[in-house]
Amino acid sequence: MQHNRSKIPLVNLGAEYQEIKGEIRRALESVLESSSFILGKNVAQFEQQFSSYVGSKHGIGVASGTDALTIALQAIGVGVGDEVITVSHTFIATVDAITRVGARPVLTDIDEKTYNIDVGKVVKGITKKTKAILPVHMYGQPARLDELREICDKFGLALVQDACQAHGSTLNKHKLGHYGDVLCYSFYPSKDLGAYGDGGMIVTDNQEVAETCRMLRNYGQSEKYHHDFVGFNSRLDEIQAACLIIKLRHLDSWIERRRRAARGYSQLLGESRTATVPYADPDASHVFYLYVVKVEERERVIEMFREAGIETGIHYPIPVHRQKAYSTLQHVTLPITEKCCNQILSLPMHPFLTESEQSAVARVLSG
Ligand SMILES: *Cc1c(COP(=O)(O)O)cnc(C)c1O
Repeated sequence: MQHNRSKIPLVNLGAEYQEIKGEIRRALESVLESSSFILGKNVAQFEQQFSSYVGSKHGIGVASGTDALTIALQAIGVGVGDEVITVSHTFIATVDAITRVGARPVLTDIDEKTYNIDVGKVVKGITKKTKAILPVHMYGQPARLDELREICDKFGLALVQDACQAHGSTLNKHKLGHYGDVLCYSFYPSKDLGAYGDGGMIVTDNQEVAETCRMLRNYGQSEKYHHDFVGFNSRLDEIQAACLIIKLRHLDSWIERRRRAARGYSQLLGESRTATVPYADPDASHVFYLYVVKVEERERVIEMFREAGIETGIHYPIPVHRQKAYSTLQHVTLPITEKCCNQILSLPMHPFLTESEQSAVARVLSG
């Protein structure tokens, strides 16, 4: 027990729940009383509120971020024989979605400072088969969407944004919806905006794409028992939507607290020779889903944290092209991706991180 009490966790969903417990319980109760659990008024309301929060017209609630990516790709017409340019330094689901619709992922290296897709390397990956570019806004900092938008327009490609880690972030003061075409979000519990279970959303200004996504998530149905194509059963449910409506009201203040904690870390660690603090793109607002430092001798550093009762993580330790599931991509060489994978370390980060916890973390790295 002593050890547990001193432990500083990577995320702290318990503290979040304590802050909004009353509101959440009332929301749950009202859904249970309503007996409406699938595609009811909470989902419709949350779709409207969240799409407007990210600066787009339409929101389509789905069962997960993975499904958001898969359904979005299918809705814009990506399929067998097509190629989609993305990164290997991401959570596997980004690339799985491309594979799932029958297309070929073309993996590109990342920028060493931001961990986002290296825009300078994108164009040479474009072929006649390329249909879309799929940047991932890693750790909460948007990729260079302005430059990617230009490339997409020039080559006639769709821009599909994996925004699963970037709820509420902006670029050049624009909400990410500003850059089009389709944005995909996850509400996995640990995300900046998380449900009490799985959930996701597709967001777009394109009405036709939105309509196709709406049908795809619901058995390809245009009206009850009329199925125009083969779809999925992939819906955000009423209970999750009701909770997410509440959490969305708190999101900006939670993001502000994450940003404050990040500034605190960066000050404390500015002089550290063990850790390099994250680079902040001056044009972007970073929402710090994760606070990731670079360290040499990572195993030794992780062990020091373990001894201090501090939880750390690696997001992600094995790039997609080194995964067994993608042995067909073994030949790809992505030097920056591989170098970063060996050095990155995620420190505790959430809106409830105290200054004394931050100091305890920093002390380990000042040693
Ligand atoms: C979380 C995440 C996903 C997948 O979301 P799920 O809701 O877990 O399916 C996809 N891409 C990235 C970058 C993520 O962080």
